[in-house]
Amino acid sequence: MIKRRWNSTFKSSKPSRLKTRTHLRPVRKTLPESEARIKQDLIKLTSLIVRMRDKACVLCGSTRELQNGHFWHRDLPPTEFCLVNCNALCARCNNRHEYRPERYTEWMREKLGEIEFDRLDRRAHGETKLSYIELWDLRETYKLLFKELNAIREVA
Ligand SMILES: [Zn+2]
Repeated sequence: MIKRRWNSTFKSSKPSRLKTRTHLRPVRKTLPESEARIKQDLIKLTSLIVRMRDKACVLCGSTRELQNGHFWHRDLPPTEFCLVNCNALCARCNNRHEYRPERYTEWMREKLGEIEFDRLDRRAHGETKLSYIELWDLRETYKLLFKELNAIREVA
């Protein structure tokens, strides 16, 4: 009410409008980033890193339609962004893993060895949940890793 009256009285007063806008900016910056947003970034970064690292489907060697193939399902939070649990798979092999996990399982057992394979199993089905700060830190680490992988790719 007061504002409307004030505006109508000083219609040509541009400085007040500018003042309002610049006042909003720092306030927006201080709002905390949601955990969901950080996880979205981590999903993208993990997939990029895994595909850049492996370059081809680890099961059949195809370089087409590469995806981030979670060995233990992506719904299990402790290994959702784990670079040991994630390997590049083509869309076909990744899809097949959903209903015929034998091949990827065999590959993982061979790659990791029994001790590491069991450790990953326990980790995937454990209760460990990354805190907000840990998710934030992991994103920073993955940003750096992504940059390094990019730099290596440019040199090669
Ligand atoms: Zn494949």
